[in-house]
Amino acid sequence: MSETFKGSFTQQEPIPEEGIAAALAVLQHGRLHRYNVAPGEVAETALLEEDFAGLVGARYCLAVASGGYAMATALRAVGVGHGVPVLSNAFTLAPVPGAIASVGGVPVFVEVTDDLTIDLDDLAAKAGSAKVLLLSHMRGHVCDMERLMAICDAAGVTVIEDCAHTMGATWNGVPSGRHGRVGCYSAQTYKHVNSGEGGFLVTDDAVIAAKSVLLSGSYMLYARHRAAPPPEVFEGLRLEVPNISGRMDNLRAAILRPQLALLADRRDRWGVLYRTLEAGLAGVPGLRLIPRPAAEVYVASSFQFLLPEWEGARVEALVARCLARGVELKWFGAAEPVAFTSRYSHWAYANPAPMPQTDRVLAGLIDMRLPLTFTPQDAALIARIIRAEVGAVWQGEVTPVARAVGAE
Ligand SMILES: *Cc1c(COP(=O)(O)O)cnc(C)c1O
Repeated sequence: MSETFKGSFTQQEPIPEEGIAAALAVLQHGRLHRYNVAPGEVAETALLEEDFAGLVGARYCLAVASGGYAMATALRAVGVGHGVPVLSNAFTLAPVPGAIASVGGVPVFVEVTDDLTIDLDDLAAKAGSAKVLLLSHMRGHVCDMERLMAICDAAGVTVIEDCAHTMGATWNGVPSGRHGRVGCYSAQTYKHVNSGEGGFLVTDDAVIAAKSVLLSGSYMLYARHRAAPPPEVFEGLRLEVPNISGRMDNLRAAILRPQLALLADRRDRWGVLYRTLEAGLAGVPGLRLIPRPAAEVYVASSFQFLLPEWEGARVEALVARCLARGVELKWFGAAEPVAFTSRYSHWAYANPAPMPQTDRVLAGLIDMRLPLTFTPQDAALIARIIRAEVGAVWQGEVTPVARAVGAE
């Protein structure tokens, strides 16, 4: 009898006890709003910003309501408004073009490579067409950041990094989010720290930091921030910048603070799961693993591989057969967006131009969540199942027509 996996691909770990205790303390005193502090008290949110700034080595940090809000705020703070073109990855998730659309900007998509990073040749060719790049480190794959920054610096392009999948990752020792002018992160349940919803924005630029604080809805209480510029930076801005409320609250901050300390350990555990899968899928005919550059330290909360040149019906057959054995794979080549998975051609509001290279790569791209509730034994079992099913489908033992049968 063939093996089946019984685990859940969407089950996260519990909030650490310390976070639960801190959250209860906030609930008991009732001061959930970040600017609602007792005399002499420093809000959990302000402390969280200080902690996060320290973690990534940034001068300033702002905690906000979501990763998408962090990106939109960063775009506004660097001056993107109605009709302004913004370069971005064609391979990313919906909140990225959504953040551009939310400020009235116009996404200019850049192709993806077979290694799932932004195509730097295509970026170089398009760099003259916009003054801002919203760079998405999609699924945690980091491109050659020195080359990317050289291209953008030469073209006068301001870089904002979407680090929703790279919190705790580094490129040549530099924390992800620290190459560009602004780094944005998400604390949504499926990312690397979990407060349900939440986000961060970091920068060393005092004016961008002050504008972001004002944009997030600080009223005239910005002096209660700690990882923010001094009040004089706000003086000339405070009446000029609109309030677009998207603050973080003290309850979420309390849940998040102890998790920051666990990030390095989580990165190591994710690495074990990732490398177990990688080893288990090495050398499977018809399946291409994604090479990981030595310069990159990744935080692998998900796993991808390519089925190059596979026809769609065959990929669908594989996905169905794996699902029948408990292994949930997502396919980026599907005609319709499914759950969290969509591709650029589904963002009709952005009127995207055809991206032939991205179409080719995504047609064979398989994606899988890797929650930390999985054990290395789980990862090994999942690899065995995928390996067997890819073998069966690739070698034509299963014809695409047979896919409706699914289970064995
Ligand atoms: C999750 C995600 C974000 C931010 O999402 P929020 O849900 O708004 O926190 C940004 N970019 C990518 C690629 C994401 O997956």
